[in-house]
Amino acid sequence: MSPNGLDAKTFFERQGGITYNDFILLPGHIDFAMDKIGLDTNLTRNIKIKRPVVSSPMDTVTESRMAISMAMLGGIGIIHYNNSVEDQVQEVRRVKRFENGFITEPVVLSPNHTIHDVDVLKEKHGFSGIPITDDGTLNSKLVGIVTKRDIDFEENRAKRLKEVMTTQLITAPAGISLAEGNRILKESKKGKLPIVDKQGRLVSLMSRTDLLKNEDFPFASKNQDKQLLVGAALSTRDEDKERLAELVKAGVDVIVIDSSQGDSVFQINTIKYIKQKYPQIDVVGGNVVTARQCKSLIDAGVDALRIGMGSGSICITQDTLSVGRAQGSAVYHTAKFSKEYANIPIIADGGIANIGHIVKALSLGASAVMMGGLLAGTSESPGEYFYEGGVRVKKYRGMASHEAMEKGGGKRYLSVEDRIKVAQGVTGTVVDKGSIVHLVQYLMQSLLHSLQELGRKSIQELHHGLYDGTLRFEMRSLSAQTEGAVHNLYSFKEPHLGLLRMGR
Ligand code: GDP
Ligand code: 5GP
Repeated sequence: MSPNGLDAKTFFERQGGITYNDFILLPGHIDFAMDKIGLDTNLTRNIKIKRPVVSSPMDTVTESRMAISMAMLGGIGIIHYNNSVEDQVQEVRRVKRFENGFITEPVVLSPNHTIHDVDVLKEKHGFSGIPITDDGTLNSKLVGIVTKRDIDFEENRAKRLKEVMTTQLITAPAGISLAEGNRILKESKKGKLPIVDKQGRLVSLMSRTDLLKNEDFPFASKNQDKQLLVGAALSTRDEDKERLAELVKAGVDVIVIDSSQGDSVFQINTIKYIKQKYPQIDVVGGNVVTARQCKSLIDAGVDALRIGMGSGSICITQDTLSVGRAQGSAVYHTAKFSKEYANIPIIADGGIANIGHIVKALSLGASAVMMGGLLAGTSESPGEYFYEGGVRVKKYRGMASHEAMEKGGGKRYLSVEDRIKVAQGVTGTVVDKGSIVHLVQYLMQSLLHSLQELGRKSIQELHHGLYDGTLRFEMRSLSAQTEGAVHNLYSFKEPHLGLLRMGR
């Protein structure tokens, strides 16, 4: 065995079936301070982002709240499609219309709606602070607000909102600055601040929960019009052409074709259709795990590839169908091929179970990582918190779990129209991780440290090292993995949200 580990080519061609946990990166030479490191990367051929993180198109991970936060933090969110065309388009619009700190398209009800209607919205979106206008639409006269405290103890859920809403309102005039809005929110101690025009019509909303987010986000992913970037998932089914047209109208920046086995004639036709009809939209194809599959989709015209089959935390494909690939090998081989063949970036999707896996995916040639489980359970992920065995959790489920397929999901799996559906995913729970803002900032800070230890100032330098053989790899025996983890302690405190323990 070499005293300085192995280059990637030797390491990955010697054996297959390598997962992130199977190897370790050997340290490099540090000759720069951490503030010299950049994390800029290419999400696709044409889209650049400043942080290499993407939230997965899953119905327990990415809707507009997640996508807004991901984009503000420098990554991007991909809106799932386990919903109607209208709902998916609405989520995309929310992201495009978001102005730092202002909810420009708040959910609104009328005085004649019932408490039950609020319950339904809370179940769907996770919030219950709802402004009430004359006719239940935005840009109509604001007459009240309903918050949790107005309806918490009301037993009759059929009661109309006009009987319970708060009508003494603190509002702010349209056009106020973010700083001014923040000041009013802090001083008034209210949870919501409706913004109204001169005629008293509701134009937007501010939320106290977002104070944390209403700061400057220097890395935000934006287009030339200063709108946040957002992606949307699409299936290869013919009827999704209409969905695509609506998503494009709403201003979507990138389409992710969501398929568990991407190398199909259906996907190739879809890619060609999109590239021909909407050449301005970048298309991510996938999922694929071999060089041969990559070639099919690159030849069809994709702008990036999504890599992973069976490595997701909720996924049972490898056990159920015996098809897939260990994620480390998949990322290395597909990234190398795609770079040499057409310089197409790849996104490592699934199996990012702890902080260290992010740098490992990038060190194997990925330009970005896509995460589901790690971002689920945050306040920005869809769904409500509940308690399981005394622990605060949120639901996280595979898109091919029985539960998600019943709701119309599983379009990425060809079996979805079968009478007997074979699940390729499970439904589970993940612990409350608080806001995505702290979580992603923590992950990115740790990535910066990691790059410094490796002696690389950027993701591009990391990739150079990967291909010129200076980035060095070593196998981790099972006992090395035990040694590398906390051991021999009676108890210990996790540095951040138990993220270290995940993935073991
Ligand atoms: P609530 O008090 O039940 O509304 O919930 P929180 O204030 O805890 O959470 C509201 C969160 O949802 C904030 O981060 C908002 O920015 C976000 N959000 C996104 N769209 C809407 C919307 O249409 N209405 C409300 N109330 N919040 C929204
Ligand atoms: P995680 O980040 O939780 O490890 O993995 C998320 C990824 O798992 C998703 O981006 C997607 O590629 C994949 N995935 C989502 N739902 C399912 C499912 O039901 N079955 C399988 N096989 N994979 C899934």
